[in-house]
Amino acid sequence: MDKMIEIKNLKKNYGKNEVLKDITETVDKGQVICVIGPSGSGKSTFLRCLNVLEKPTSGKIIFDGQDLAHISEKQLNVLREKMGMVFQGFNLFPNMSVLENIKLAPMKVKNVDEKTARERGKELLDKVGLLDKADQFPDSLSGGQKQRVAIARALAMDPEVILFDEPTSALDPEMVGEVLKVMQDLADSGMTMVVVTHEMGFAREVADEVWFMADGYVQEIGSPEEIFEHPKSARAKDFLAKVL
Ligand code: ADP
Ligand code: MG
Repeated sequence: MDKMIEIKNLKKNYGKNEVLKDITETVDKGQVICVIGPSGSGKSTFLRCLNVLEKPTSGKIIFDGQDLAHISEKQLNVLREKMGMVFQGFNLFPNMSVLENIKLAPMKVKNVDEKTARERGKELLDKVGLLDKADQFPDSLSGGQKQRVAIARALAMDPEVILFDEPTSALDPEMVGEVLKVMQDLADSGMTMVVVTHEMGFAREVADEVWFMADGYVQEIGSPEEIFEHPKSARAKDFLAKVL
């Protein structure tokens, strides 16, 4: 398997709080990884370290052959363009239309011309089922629609991998399905994805690997069946008993 991201001895402290203690794992190309675990176990910190939104205290994040933790800000920005990120809170620009939100980064960062960015933006909106919302403002959309726009916006940069941090946690229950459907389609298309989620049904269906995080470590890795049906550690058993 081709490696997409190699994480080597990753540690992250906030002052005396050792949030990530020693993580060494690999994300392969085309893989869908679901990261599960209790609240406060460092899942968001882990994702933010992958694209160095948080600087690791020590360790390596190797992406495209380069160690992201030890390169210049300029090189880092080039590589970050290849890592999309989708957050719980959508983070759309409220003063721009849906289509403008999607066009912005390709035009600004990649110097894509307006017409190309517009056409591609519309294609992506069509893909997430929101072409008719192109000229509306984010405030007029439902949470599920906003998150689908956020996914289209991430895709507009043609990322090699997309990191999702609890993309459905802020949504009303009836909107979760439409976002998971878009993510499932993306997974089926071969996109490499790292998804922090509490949606165990999604993890079971879509993940190639489930990583169980707790106490600053990835405690267990396995297929959905291995993790959900036959968890090994007491920590994982306890967590799964509460969420399943
Ligand atoms: P999770 O996403 O699994 O709920 P987080 O990564 O958000 O966990 O948080 C893990 C721990 O790191 C928590 O104890 C949290 O308080 C701490 N933490 C997260 N971000 C920061 C920060 N920017 N500054 C200080 N502490 C932080
Ligand atoms: Mg979190």
